[in-house]
Amino acid sequence: MTIKLYNTLTRKKEEFKPIKAGEAGIYTCGPTVYWFQHIGNFRAYISWDLLKRMLIHNGLKVRHVMNYTDVGHLTSDADEGEDKMEKAAAKEGKKASDIAKFYAEAFEKDAKKLNIITPDVVCKATEHIKEQIELVQNLEKKGLTYKTSDGIYYDTSKFPDYGKLGKISFEGLDAGKRVDMGEKKNKTDFALWKFSEEKGKRQQEWESPWGLGFPGWHIECSAMSSKYLGEQFDIHTGGEDHIQVHHQNEIAQSEGAFGKKPWVRYWMHVAFLTFKGEKVSKSKGGLYTISELEEQGFNALDYRYFCLGTHYKKPLNFSIEALEGAKATMTRLKNLIIELKSKDDSKKTADYDSYKKKFDEAISDDLNTPLALAVLWDVMRDNQLGSKEKLELAFSFDEVLGLGLKSAEAEAIEVPDEIMALADKRAEARKNKDWAASDKIRDKIKAKGWIVEDKKEGQKLKKA
Ligand code: AMP
Ligand code: ZN
Repeated sequence: MTIKLYNTLTRKKEEFKPIKAGEAGIYTCGPTVYWFQHIGNFRAYISWDLLKRMLIHNGLKVRHVMNYTDVGHLTSDADEGEDKMEKAAAKEGKKASDIAKFYAEAFEKDAKKLNIITPDVVCKATEHIKEQIELVQNLEKKGLTYKTSDGIYYDTSKFPDYGKLGKISFEGLDAGKRVDMGEKKNKTDFALWKFSEEKGKRQQEWESPWGLGFPGWHIECSAMSSKYLGEQFDIHTGGEDHIQVHHQNEIAQSEGAFGKKPWVRYWMHVAFLTFKGEKVSKSKGGLYTISELEEQGFNALDYRYFCLGTHYKKPLNFSIEALEGAKATMTRLKNLIIELKSKDDSKKTADYDSYKKKFDEAISDDLNTPLALAVLWDVMRDNQLGSKEKLELAFSFDEVLGLGLKSAEAEAIEVPDEIMALADKRAEARKNKDWAASDKIRDKIKAKGWIVEDKKEGQKLKKA
């Protein structure tokens, strides 16, 4: 199957041709672990999980690397402001490393609930200080850096390709208007290493050839991606907010240091999850976390389904009403799967292969998830195909979609409160060995259209 990916670098959908045949290396800019990741952040990770699953589905061997930013990400992209980790540590009165550990674990728990496959390598900026220092030294040797009173900076005027990703030009930038130049030579210059203002004021600081300090935010991604994927690799992903600054700077660092062009072949960016038309962002208090959605009665995979309904490059507006729609559709889907599981008829029609082809084409066409879901629903509605074949197709599609269809169980059925109350009463009667009362309640439940079965783990309710 031809795989096509939209490449931000060329602003075109291109055929995916890996550097090494049959393999794909992906680097994903991961969470800054100073707070919970909100559902906007997770839109990004769900998209990259789909990308990875799609490549695997097409027979590629994928190596996926993701970082945790646990130092150096300042509250302003212009290398000013506080370090987000230090700020959170001070606010919560904890060690920065404990803050990082706590939010990284919270992220992993939510990612698991969303069926996001754990990357092959998960790397932390604080555990790669040596690699970052070496990379800055490399850039220094190549004459691409300069020193100011607060750090070592990248001189972007010495990197002619600067701006190619975001399609910006030095002339086009409104100098000094938004960005305080400070001692910077060019408005796009950025910190590679920042000096500690005074020893011990920060929790996280390291010795370096330039004195005590900490790495700039961008250098970690260049240092860790090259360590785990080599100096040139296939795909780099992130949110669309990374295009103009973070990824541009990563390119300047990596191409400047390694001299390989292009450093990354395909740049993929997910559009924002919005709420009432505005970007959902952590600095503005975020929106919901996955746990908060669960508290409202949603399943994490309802949110995954909601995300799949819109192509990753299109902005997606979140609302509880829209999520309720996704939840109802997921419940319907799971119930259909449960029903199919209880049947054993088999019939392979000519459409069986064409569904497969349509699905593969849709998902391999720059992750066209809305179309892929439509194919899944066509299968579910097909009156000719056997139950066995329908299940086969649904499960095979779900290896990419990640909706957990294989483990769909009867609890997907929403049992009305009235029936639940009767079942509770019956459980009580059975506990008291009042079999007559138990049978009476069972009949009552049946009269209302439900069947109660007694299993080892307790009562199980089924629609009659
Ligand atoms: P951060 O933890 O802030 O570094 O963000 C983690 C990831 O989430 C990055 O790839 C961001 O680009 C992405 N992101 C942040 N906000 C949103 C949003 N509202 N919609 C989609 N992706 C987002
Ligand atoms: Zn990054």
